[in-house]
Amino acid sequence: MEKTLVILKPCTVQRGLIGEIVSRFEKKGLRLAGMKMTWLTDEILSEHYAHLKEKPFFQRIKDAMSVCPVIVCCWEGVGAIQVVRTLAGATNGRNAAPGTIRGDYSMSVQENIVHASDSPETAAMELKRFFNDTEIYDYKLNNLLSLYAND
Ligand code: UDP
Repeated sequence: MEKTLVILKPCTVQRGLIGEIVSRFEKKGLRLAGMKMTWLTDEILSEHYAHLKEKPFFQRIKDAMSVCPVIVCCWEGVGAIQVVRTLAGATNGRNAAPGTIRGDYSMSVQENIVHASDSPETAAMELKRFFNDTEIYDYKLNNLLSLYAND
């Protein structure tokens, strides 16, 4: 089982899409291991987007990510990091395939509904950044056999 971090961005909160997007991950069969609302600071966003600090849009995305609180979630499942990236779709909502979250709900590269960790290393780092140990819950789903058979 893998855990991954998803952030429902301010555009998702503003557009009243929180339930819809959470529902996508739930229906896929991922287990919600942690969830909270939090207002991201410039400091945490500078750390989170450090790989983009030379980009011309660095300040713009940090501003966009702090217009209102976000929802941070920890989702768990077999291969969850890649599964969630596939569900999210391409970065630019206008290019994202229909059926993906960004393809279905976004017309923008910046306002693209979700952040999703892109590798096991970043998932581990990002989960630590947004959650402490007591906020991640290790209960079992009782339908694992229906979800995975014996894979
Ligand atoms: N972004 C942007 N303009 C760009 C590329 C990215 O505003 O030209 C924003 C967008 O919100 C994206 C975030 O920066 O989700 C992080 O970019 P990354 O390349 O890591 O894309 P992601 O992993 O989110 O698909």
